[in-house]
Amino acid sequence: MTLSDMTYRICTFGCQMNKHDSERVAGLLEESGLCALADDAHDADADVVVYLTCCVREAADKRLFGQVASLKSLPDSAGAPKRRLVAVGGCIGQRDGAALVESFPHIDVVFGTHNIARLPELLAGAHSLSTPQVEVLDGQGTCATDLPSRREHRWHAWVPIMTGCDNFCSYCVVPYVRGRERSRTPDDVLREVTALLGDGVREVTLLGQNVNSYGRDLFGEPRFATLLRQVAGCGVERIRFATSHPKDISDETIAAFAELPAVMPALHLPVQSGSDAVLRAMRRNYTAEHYLGLVRKVREAAARAGKGEVALSTDVIVGFPGESDADFEATMDLMRAVGYAQAFTFIYSRREQTPAARLHDDTPRAVVQERFDRLVALVQQSAWGCNQLECGRVVEVLFEGASKRDARVLAGKSPKNQTVHAPLPPGAAVADFTGEVLPVRIDTARTWYLSGALLNEALADVSADGNADGSA
Ligand code: SAH
Ligand code: SF4
Repeated sequence: MTLSDMTYRICTFGCQMNKHDSERVAGLLEESGLCALADDAHDADADVVVYLTCCVREAADKRLFGQVASLKSLPDSAGAPKRRLVAVGGCIGQRDGAALVESFPHIDVVFGTHNIARLPELLAGAHSLSTPQVEVLDGQGTCATDLPSRREHRWHAWVPIMTGCDNFCSYCVVPYVRGRERSRTPDDVLREVTALLGDGVREVTLLGQNVNSYGRDLFGEPRFATLLRQVAGCGVERIRFATSHPKDISDETIAAFAELPAVMPALHLPVQSGSDAVLRAMRRNYTAEHYLGLVRKVREAAARAGKGEVALSTDVIVGFPGESDADFEATMDLMRAVGYAQAFTFIYSRREQTPAARLHDDTPRAVVQERFDRLVALVQQSAWGCNQLECGRVVEVLFEGASKRDARVLAGKSPKNQTVHAPLPPGAAVADFTGEVLPVRIDTARTWYLSGALLNEALADVSADGNADGSA
């Protein structure tokens, strides 16, 4: 069997950057002749299994190691012995390199975050030589941005505008595994966006660990606001971006966010903690007061520009070394003051290499867990409250397909990034709605989704087009 007769499956754990990397890996493998295992086929039947894994928290490490260990002797779904090629990449590949092959001799390829493009050759080498291939480069290469990509959704694209991070928050391993900040040139980004538009993309998410410092390495000053205006100028219907570091979000960026209709009214602005002492120990370089000031500015600018409410989301770490009860209460207070639409909550995970790993950490696990549970309850309450505001309103939904639970229900995303469900009209096909932006009147709001009915005019549009996604 040659590589080009093989099927592949990619397993991705972690952030949006990993999701984007996995679309690139899929594109590269397909260009080399491999074909994706059918969605409903069992992982065990893939000839090539690629893991792309984040190492920001210990949980992902454990999950990867568990899955890789169990692949070793796993037969195919019919119970027959199966020889397969296993590749591990992403942040863990970058961090652990050859040590992965020593721990798991049945891993065939280890690659890093800077040499995704080499994966097909490394797989071919492992296949023909039957020896593991390990290649991890340090972070100083160029951005591998013109690789082929196989997008999960035809109408959505992740567009990395920069890689790496220079912030060195004291708990975080990203700067060590993803290297220093490197921005793509505006021309390069705009060329990609234009090509994507030609390919049917309606929504782009601009990606970077800290998009607010975009361009600093190229121009000596950040130019994210300009880039946002240029991307909007290309004619993209919906623009999102992540992640914004609060210390670097400028007035120009807030103005561009507020004024550009294509930029969706949802802002991910990770706060991490509401306690100034913890923020200092985390090396975040802002205070809770500064953060709350930014939230006010963003909301006021959006209201002035007629954008309406902004759905704010955040990341929070609970149980950072030395976090006291009072520190945690400050986080809860800040969460209440902001009223987040969504929050990603994490229990602090000690990462070797990082300065926080050397801090004294004596908060009992049970105390951290109790704080975490209270925080999650607050986040749910807050998300529910934000969703209630939508009842009775009409929202423009970008439909993604059928809901996972019920094939007769359409699911999509509102401008504020809320999941919206609407019954599939009788006699209609899900494909007619997939990739379309259509108005839905919301009648029910739950914690994690809204539901409502498509407006008649939306139905008329779809039936007039025959196949509204334009693929007919
Ligand atoms: N660059 C982005 C986030 C990258 S990592 C930013 O600065 O916002 C995504 C999230 O993982 C972080 O925001 C943080 O909340 C969480 N995280 C990072 N390192 C962690 C650690 N050691 N333990 C627990 N959570 C962590
Ligand atoms: Fe990690 Fe901080 Fe960089 Fe985000 S900004 S990737 S949390 S070091």
